[in-house]
Amino acid sequence: MGFACIFGHKWNGCKCERCGVTRDEQHDWDGCKCRRCGKVRDEQHDWNGCICLRCGQKRDEQHKWNGFVCSLCGKKRSVNEITDQSTIADILINDDQLPSSMLVPLMRRVTDQSILISIAEKAKVGFFTPKILAVEKITDQPYLIKVARNDINSIYGRAAAQNITDQAILTELALGIRDKGNNTCWGGNETKDIIINRLSDQALLETIARKAENLYMRGMALLKIDDISVVTDIANGDIELACYAIEILTDLSLLVKIAENDKFTLERGGSRIRAYNRIIALNPKFRLTSKLREVKERIEVYEHLDKTWKNVDNYN
Ligand SMILES: [Zn+2]
Ligand SMILES: [Zn+2]
Ligand SMILES: [Zn+2]
Ligand SMILES: [Zn+2]
Repeated sequence: MGFACIFGHKWNGCKCERCGVTRDEQHDWDGCKCRRCGKVRDEQHDWNGCICLRCGQKRDEQHKWNGFVCSLCGKKRSVNEITDQSTIADILINDDQLPSSMLVPLMRRVTDQSILISIAEKAKVGFFTPKILAVEKITDQPYLIKVARNDINSIYGRAAAQNITDQAILTELALGIRDKGNNTCWGGNETKDIIINRLSDQALLETIARKAENLYMRGMALLKIDDISVVTDIANGDIELACYAIEILTDLSLLVKIAENDKFTLERGGSRIRAYNRIIALNPKFRLTSKLREVKERIEVYEHLDKTWKNVDNYN
């Protein structure tokens, strides 16, 4: 207080015109802030999300989340606080640094099919990605069929095949499936096994066993055919294919053809040995040809070796 105001201030609202001192009354409010003295009150803020544009006060609502951080106030949140499906999708699509410890719980919360599809379409591709997790959760059949048709040999095609229910579509996929060299780290036959496990229609299985491009695919289909006369008929036309069905075949002449075939080696567990064992199981008194005796002798060698090794093990 200056000398000038010793007998009283000259108030203009909350501020003295002469000495500049302020008082807590008669403010000139502009929302939350006094135009004259700058005092702030907790009323009539001008909220931009979580922050007041006029006074800078923060509130814990209407944050503007950019992934886990509010881009307005800098507040952080945990995985469990994020429940909104499209927010989760946004994080899964755009945050390529997301650790799997967050990725998996976030993905678990997404159930909306169209959001899952947008994640599958837009997420960045890598080894362990939201894309694959999304495809695994999609049940939308037209979308899965599109993915499987376009890319059945990929990890996405495999995930898609897992959820396809239409038998005719699965058959179509089975007929066209090919081996794609050794550049697949997820194993050569997994997709084929998935497709065949989902198929039960006997006529369609027969179509696959007869016509699929891939031998393994044909073999797996053959094994699921219940009618042994159909199995025999198909196996008779293709000895390589017949090898898949050795343990269910009952046609002795076909089994002999396999057991005698020099195209196959006499390796342990190989087709010749399996066929021989099947013959003996069906008819223990089967008259052995010289080629069948060759197989029998080899089996005895293996048995002898096994015994020897067992003794060594026991001795140890
Ligand atoms: Zn004054
Ligand atoms: Zn004031
Ligand atoms: Zn304010
Ligand atoms: Zn905020």
